[in-house]
Amino acid sequence: MTARPIAPGTWTVGLDIGGTKVHGVLLDEDGTLASTVRLPTGTGVTGVVASAAQAVERLAADRCLELGEVAAVGVGVPGVVDPGSGVVAHAVNLGIAGEVRLAALLTARLGGVPVNVENDLNAAALGASVGRGPRGDLAFLALGTGLAAGLVLDGAVRRGISGAAGEVGHLPYVPDGPRCACGQHGCLELYASGSALEARWGSRTGRPAAVEVFEAAAAGDPEAVGVRDAFADAVATAVRVLALTCDVEHVVLGGGVAGLGEPLREAVVAALERHAASSPFLRSLDLGSRLEVAHDEHVAAIGAALAAARAGAPEVVGSWRS
Ligand SMILES: [Zn+2]
Repeated sequence: MTARPIAPGTWTVGLDIGGTKVHGVLLDEDGTLASTVRLPTGTGVTGVVASAAQAVERLAADRCLELGEVAAVGVGVPGVVDPGSGVVAHAVNLGIAGEVRLAALLTARLGGVPVNVENDLNAAALGASVGRGPRGDLAFLALGTGLAAGLVLDGAVRRGISGAAGEVGHLPYVPDGPRCACGQHGCLELYASGSALEARWGSRTGRPAAVEVFEAAAAGDPEAVGVRDAFADAVATAVRVLALTCDVEHVVLGGGVAGLGEPLREAVVAALERHAASSPFLRSLDLGSRLEVAHDEHVAAIGAALAAARAGAPEVVGSWRS
């Protein structure tokens, strides 16, 4: 990758800040992916701001840019986010318990570069929706520690009045099931998350439980088949809820479990077909055809960059190319 002359102020950085890693992308003036970076996330507010700033500085240096040539920085974080004020709250995976003015802190650290914060799933949904045309309503369903979706409807992120749009993981699934951290019983995320798989299948080889379960099921282990299919039934229920609520055209499965790739999609499609077997209505919706597994590791960071570009200058970035 060689540096070349650029128009000042048209580069955008996107950061996906997770509990262990900051994943950053630099988009050029055409929205093309110009550079990427990955580094460890610091601890607490000071550590998060420092590692985010370091990621931006590295991306800029990679293309011989001054920080002043970066038009905006978008940040996706796992927590409750108010993009208007740049305040992040309850980002427990980042060691942020209370409310933090993350955008203001990072702007100050970067010498005045505008910073926009967004919930990480909303950013991922936005990143996944780009390039699908104006009708590409989409849900990004993350199968990770928990279960939740980001929604892009009519081209815009849908947050809802309290920011809870897409929190399908806390729909009761088994009424007399175990108590969930949210205080209800038998929530869907107790059955359809990566954590749920780990709870049902203790890792026997040190590899992720999801990988072991799907491999053992493919080899015909009856216990693994049961665990896989029960998991797929629960994920399919989340897909059905999203499709029947918003009639989204695309449901993209993300999060750690999505690393399984095609076998995950096939298992969930099979579950959707089981659910539709007795329902001509469900069959007519052909939900399996709407299902994808996220294959772009940059999707959340790119979405964060796009959210920042839209917040600052809606006409700047309408698409991106990789
Ligand atoms: Zn719950």
